Amino acid sequence: MSDSPLKEACGLFGVFGAPNAVELTYLGLYAQQHRGQESAGIASVQNGRIVHHKDMGLVADVFSKDSLALLRSHAAIGHVRYSTTGASLQVNAQPLVVDTAHSMIAVGHNGNLVNSSALRRDFERQQRFFPIFHTTTDTEIILYLVARETDLVKGIKHAMNEIKGAYSLVFLTPESVVAVRDPNGFRPLALGKRGSLWAVASETCAFELSQIEYVRDVEPGEIVVFDKNGSRSERSLPKKQCKPKHCIFEHVYFARPDSRIFGDTVHVVRRRMGRRLAQEHPVAADLVTPVPDSGMSAALGYAEESGIPFEMAFMRNHYVGRTFIQPSQDERSTTVEIKLAVVRDVVKGKRVVVIDDSIIRGTTSRSRIRLLREAGAKEVHLRISCPPTRHACYYGIDFPSSKELIAANYSIEEIRKRIGVDTLGYLSLEGMLGGASEPASSYCTACWTGSYAVEPVDAVRKDIHERRS
Ligand code: SF4
Repeated sequence: MSDSPLKEACGLFGVFGAPNAVELTYLGLYAQQHRGQESAGIASVQNGRIVHHKDMGLVADVFSKDSLALLRSHAAIGHVRYSTTGASLQVNAQPLVVDTAHSMIAVGHNGNLVNSSALRRDFERQQRFFPIFHTTTDTEIILYLVARETDLVKGIKHAMNEIKGAYSLVFLTPESVVAVRDPNGFRPLALGKRGSLWAVASETCAFELSQIEYVRDVEPGEIVVFDKNGSRSERSLPKKQCKPKHCIFEHVYFARPDSRIFGDTVHVVRRRMGRRLAQEHPVAADLVTPVPDSGMSAALGYAEESGIPFEMAFMRNHYVGRTFIQPSQDERSTTVEIKLAVVRDVVKGKRVVVIDDSIIRGTTSRSRIRLLREAGAKEVHLRISCPPTRHACYYGIDFPSSKELIAANYSIEEIRKRIGVDTLGYLSLEGMLGGASEPASSYCTACWTGSYAVEPVDAVRKDIHERRS
């Protein structure tokens, strides 16, 4: 995605039943670094207690050989974070660990609750003589709800009755690792196995480095427990009451192309979307080029379907962080400028079709197109592999407000002029959904349609728990 300040909510990993559980967790987090770059953490079990190490920064910076050796265990969970509720602070880094009257519990969360303020107010009314919250995340609320029961699974079911919104969770206790997915399954969560070890991860790419075999997804509303007796599945709600609403934006942009999520390989879905984009918005041109990296698979599909040669017009500097993972506007504007360069000889005098996965504010797209023009492109045709993004996401993707979303404020023709392209075409909703295998009703499309499967109870803002006195 070239234009977006969008951030993913987080990446999870957990493993039970391997002597090198911590090393496997490290590799699993490393493979999922794209899902969050603000902080990283691992919790593990030693002598019946949970120990942990977490800090701000990338996985490779947060952990050393020595810190991993100190965590050594048969069971571990890990987390990489981009903040969607709660600031980018060390105190909010995950896994969160608490010592309750019944047991120690650690948790990592991917997603965003839509009623965390109401729940927090309830807690504070009940406990008003002393402050009980140590972080400003919605995840801590989940932990306290779970800890109200002596039995972990009972506590998780209790919490699932109270919390609303998007949550894929991985818990660690001294005896078990537990994977949980909300009844809509907004965010991905996969189960893997290698011999007697069980693993869980946001994306299957986390299994590959350790030869862990993907088994299946954790189902919406399912609780999967791994302990010394193997694995067992429980549910918070009967299956028929759980309505899948998988985030299709994971397919459009967030997930790694080699991952399998929601039953499809991401690269294959993006390529199909590119093919449909070519059917819906054909144009006479000399070359098709992606905005790297996430436009790559869709550009391949567009080139195949149109018969226009695929070329690499943009070169990415891989040593600059993914633009939209940077937590502040100031940092973003500088990285955007240095992230991509144009190969002049490829575009000079040519009619160029540029494939990108979305336009959020429009400012970065405009810069890219200017670079192409300066390099001598004769015509520039922009094709976007999803519909115009007009609404906020409450489920764990940090969209700017609709005031800043270009498609919420301008017509497609106005956007075309502002960005400075000869033609602009967005993939239709049907075309986007047709790229994935499950029925259209199984996917969340709220940021395009404004139709929310779970209505927010409170204002959903990243800083919602910071503003309070
Ligand atoms: Fe994904 Fe958009 Fe739904 Fe958010 S609103 S979960 S980004 S599809």
